[in-house]
Amino acid sequence: MNSRHVLPLVQEREQDWKWQLQNTLRTADQLNDALSLSEEELISARRAEAEGFPIAVTPHYLSLMKSNDRNCPLRRQVVPQAHEGLADPGDLRDPLGEEAHEVAPELVRRYPDRTVLLVSDRCAIYCRFCTRSRMVGQGGGPRSLSKLSKAFEYLRKEPEIKDVIISGGDPLAMATSRLLKIVEELRSIPHIETIRLATRVPVALPQRINSELLDALKPHHPLWLMTHFNHPQELGDENIAALNRLADAGFPVMNQTVLLRGVNDDASVLTALFRRLVRARARPYYLLQMDPVSGTAHLRTPVKTGIQLMEKLQGRLSGIALPKLIIDAPGGFGKVPVGPNYIVHQDAGVTRVRTHRGVEVDYLDPQPVVESAPGLRHPQS
Ligand SMILES: *Cc1c(COP(=O)(O)O)cnc(C)c1O
Repeated sequence: MNSRHVLPLVQEREQDWKWQLQNTLRTADQLNDALSLSEEELISARRAEAEGFPIAVTPHYLSLMKSNDRNCPLRRQVVPQAHEGLADPGDLRDPLGEEAHEVAPELVRRYPDRTVLLVSDRCAIYCRFCTRSRMVGQGGGPRSLSKLSKAFEYLRKEPEIKDVIISGGDPLAMATSRLLKIVEELRSIPHIETIRLATRVPVALPQRINSELLDALKPHHPLWLMTHFNHPQELGDENIAALNRLADAGFPVMNQTVLLRGVNDDASVLTALFRRLVRARARPYYLLQMDPVSGTAHLRTPVKTGIQLMEKLQGRLSGIALPKLIIDAPGGFGKVPVGPNYIVHQDAGVTRVRTHRGVEVDYLDPQPVVESAPGLRHPQS
């Protein structure tokens, strides 16, 4: 007897990523059946379904939630709330000015050496705080090679570009054959050294990280995987197994966490998240101050919150578990590292720093080097 028949049928189906996509919750009624929405949530979900940014929650992501808890940190990320859509003064439709920085269709360039290629508008789950809600889930699906041909043409002509981030939408929500063609096209450009895949699939759809995908991609290393875990509860057994499969297949895995009000704006939550990621061989890379996307102010924290959190984590977490706190400058001017100030004062030749224990210590700069420095002479006997 084939061993697959031993698995209960339900469990076997749930391990299939296509089954997960086919059974994804996409309507207010489906969310209500699964999570018994509050009246406010139901109204907001109906509004999202009718006119706004679409809903998608995979059965896997649902299984990680506490279905009876309306404050579940995972629920807040994917279930529309009453405040969704309310305008705030700092809000922008396209906070990173990506449309203004589009150098070819679906290709965004803000730096000399790297670009972002938007290959699809679909994701496995739709995060309510999505920075690209203006285009994500809005139709079109995976972009064809001919739709991307102008982007490839541009990349071929720009030898300064060494790094392409494949994003969207989620590149891993596409068929492997389609994704592979895009990766092969990029690999045929000699000056492109690094390719990154930006994806929330290890969170929402870990079954997708299977040997079919990994075997197809492995010949095209160096491929870096940029993922997006926001809460320790998102690291279930399946998720951890998917991260380990990626690491075993030679992918450096980096994690970008978005700082979210009522989800992870807490030092002990972030500590647990970053520790668990490192254990699963994923490097906490960035902690991102949330982009001011239209209608998402209820999920944003003040900048001060992030800085105070970093202050608490410094010294308490290993350097490999501590990400950089980043503000992606509104308007698309690039990412800016921010954080607590550890320099107390600076005079000629002396810098006074503050350590994580609050001790102040002077660092003395070296004396200017003179030509006939005594140390260079042979020692006299
Ligand atoms: C975030 C981003 C990058 C990558 O930035 P890194 O700091 O290298 O991770 C590149 N291009 C654009 C347009 C981006 O938004």
